[in-house]
Amino acid sequence: MTAGAALPTPAEAEALVRERVRPLPVESRPLESLAGAVLAQSVRSERDQPPFDRVTMDGIAFASLAWRQGQRRFRVAGTQAAGHPPLALVDPAECFEAMTGAVLPQGCDCVVPVERLRVEDGVAVVDDDMPVEPFLNVHTRGLDAREGDLLLARGTCLGAPELAVLASAGLSRADVRAEPRIMIATTGDELVDPDQPIAAWQVRRSNTYALRGALSLRGHRRLAADHLPDDHAVLAERLSAHLATHDVIVLTGGVSMGRYDHVPSVLRQLGVQEVLHKVAQRPGRPMWFGIGPTGQTVFGLPGNPVSSLVCLLRYVVPALAAMAGATARAGEHIPLGARFKVSPALAYFLPVGVEYSSAMGMVAMPRPTRGSGDFISLLGTDGFVELPPGPRELPAGYLAPLYRW
Ligand code: AMP
Ligand code: MG
Repeated sequence: MTAGAALPTPAEAEALVRERVRPLPVESRPLESLAGAVLAQSVRSERDQPPFDRVTMDGIAFASLAWRQGQRRFRVAGTQAAGHPPLALVDPAECFEAMTGAVLPQGCDCVVPVERLRVEDGVAVVDDDMPVEPFLNVHTRGLDAREGDLLLARGTCLGAPELAVLASAGLSRADVRAEPRIMIATTGDELVDPDQPIAAWQVRRSNTYALRGALSLRGHRRLAADHLPDDHAVLAERLSAHLATHDVIVLTGGVSMGRYDHVPSVLRQLGVQEVLHKVAQRPGRPMWFGIGPTGQTVFGLPGNPVSSLVCLLRYVVPALAAMAGATARAGEHIPLGARFKVSPALAYFLPVGVEYSSAMGMVAMPRPTRGSGDFISLLGTDGFVELPPGPRELPAGYLAPLYRW
């Protein structure tokens, strides 16, 4: 039996996490605060889109029938500005100046841009070789969407196009999932804050800042941090308080087999139900995941800096998406830019630099660390790829899921 045979694979672990997390409550928020939020309602088109036959170039509008009958000179009868009700053309020998974004005047069915005409004494003379046809430079009503069409489904993550569509549908607020309150709780008696004096045998506390950074880069704002000693009673007391005030607790350290690795037993004591302990992966094998007494999402990530960051991106970020009710989307995949030998019989998370190769396009160049404590080697990398268990050699071009830092 291989080392990880009895343990879940990363895909199995992720599925268990997604299955077990509880959705966050729904709240109504103003449009300005919705970037990155996940819709908890559907959105239909308020009107046809465009809502009227819309002029797409600054120029003149007239009846194309007159052009087909040989007319090339049109007396300018007025100006159709954007935002004004439609004018009506009565004489086909006339035209209106028409501005981009204006409604197409009644009696007109085409627009010739200013670049293709000249105006002399109030008469527009159109270039003879202009290919005039009905609806030239007109974006016709309802072409993009019809009134009542479903534009955004529940579970859609709101980026720039979605926010524009919400506004266009006349919504100044929308129902979304609340932002999770996240506690990043580091553990370890050897750890010292960046601004404190440090002894030769102590270690700077860095995980908080890496994890916090990764989450804030993903739009999470309700982030708190605490540092806990390797003491069963203190851990229990402080974690109990954090469970009462947070939706998500991300612990680092204290989940391995060491004498001072109290995290799993403390969590169990606090009524956090263990769902996962250990995954067939390197780094991050000792990872712990459970659900708190009132549905809190609790991760115990291994303390080594590479392990905790990799596990955050591989499991915590998808868990947060699932809690927000986001529709799962296929992740980014990228070919390896060079062959790579996977030794352990465990899924392997390999740091990579994303580069452009003229032969292969965008590729992931292997940038292995010297173990899970070597976070210095992550400098200049873009993320990691997930490779299948070894021992095996993967060729250049092998397509792997990419997780960016
Ligand atoms: P642990 O998982 O608690 O056994 O920790 C594994 C290794 O990661 C130890 O060398 C710790 O000193 C280190 N480590 C744990 N937490 C942190 C942290 N917050 N920042 C930097 N290193 C850490
Ligand atoms: Mg520790």
